[in-house]
Amino acid sequence: MIKLPPPSYEFDQVFSTCLEGLDKKPEFKARLSAGKAEIDAQLALYAEKAPNGELYTLVPVVREHGADPIIVSDLKKSELLNLYEAHLRGKEKPGRGIYNELLAAANGTCPYCGGIGRPRNLDHYLPKSKFPQFSLFPKNLVPACRDCNMDGKGQGFSASAEKQIIHPFFDAEHFFREQWIFGTYDPTDEPSGSVDFYAAPPDHWPEVDKERAETHFDDFELGVRYAKEAGARLISLRTQLDNLADLGISSDEISRVLLHPMIENAPHINHWESVMGKAVMEALNNG
Ligand SMILES: [Zn+2]
Repeated sequence: MIKLPPPSYEFDQVFSTCLEGLDKKPEFKARLSAGKAEIDAQLALYAEKAPNGELYTLVPVVREHGADPIIVSDLKKSELLNLYEAHLRGKEKPGRGIYNELLAAANGTCPYCGGIGRPRNLDHYLPKSKFPQFSLFPKNLVPACRDCNMDGKGQGFSASAEKQIIHPFFDAEHFFREQWIFGTYDPTDEPSGSVDFYAAPPDHWPEVDKERAETHFDDFELGVRYAKEAGARLISLRTQLDNLADLGISSDEISRVLLHPMIENAPHINHWESVMGKAVMEALNNG
C-alpha cells in the first residue's frame, strides 16, 4: 500500500542488457531478438490493462504436466524464465546492475506490506510461472520483502477483478492516500494491551476496490503481521501511557504529546503505527 513511481527502466534497456550476457549462445540470442516484437505486443497489452485494474483478463499459461510450452514466437517458457534467472537476477551478469537498481527504487520499504519489511527480491506481480512473457518487464517487477514475495507461492495473481492485490505502480490513489486499515485497542489484553487490525474500505469506493483492499489485507496476512509490530511497540507505549495517567494528565493532553506525533510521523496513513495511534486515542477518549 505504498505507491511507487513506475520503474525508470524501459523494457528495451533491460532486454538488450540481458542479451549482452548471451554472446556465447548466438542461436538463442538471435531467436530472442526475433521474438521481441511479439513480446512487445504483450507488454503493450499489460500497459493498457494495468491502469484500469484489468490485468486479471490476461490469460495465464496452462500448466501441462512435464510440458514446456511455447510462449511467444518460438520461445519456450523455460527459456524466458532462464533469461530472467540467469541474466537479470544472476549475480555476475550485465543485467544484475539493473536488478539492483529496480530493487533499490523502493527506498528500503516494501510496498505490499506498507513497510514492515525491507525489499529483498523483485516479485513478479503477474507471476513468472504463469506469465513468462512478463518476467523481464520492469513494470511487472515489484520490490518485495521476503514475507510478501508471492512468486514462490504461485499467488498474487487472480482471474477475477476483485481478488487482485494492489499494484504499487498502477492502482488508484485512494488505495495509498485514504485510510482503509483500522484497529481496535484492547487495554485489558495482558500484559501491555493489543491492537486488532482490520480492513474497512470507505463506503464511497467502487465495490471491486473494496474487495481488492480486503484481498490484499488477507493475502499478505497484514492483520497478524501488524498486530505483532503493535504488540512490540505497546510494551513501551503502555508504560508511557500509564505513567502520564498516574501524573493526572488528561486524555487530551496525552493524545497531543504522545499519540498525535505517532500518527503524524508514521510513513503513511495505513501504516500500523498510525492506525495503532488512532486506536489507542479512541480508547482513551471513550474510557
Ligand atoms: Zn512486505
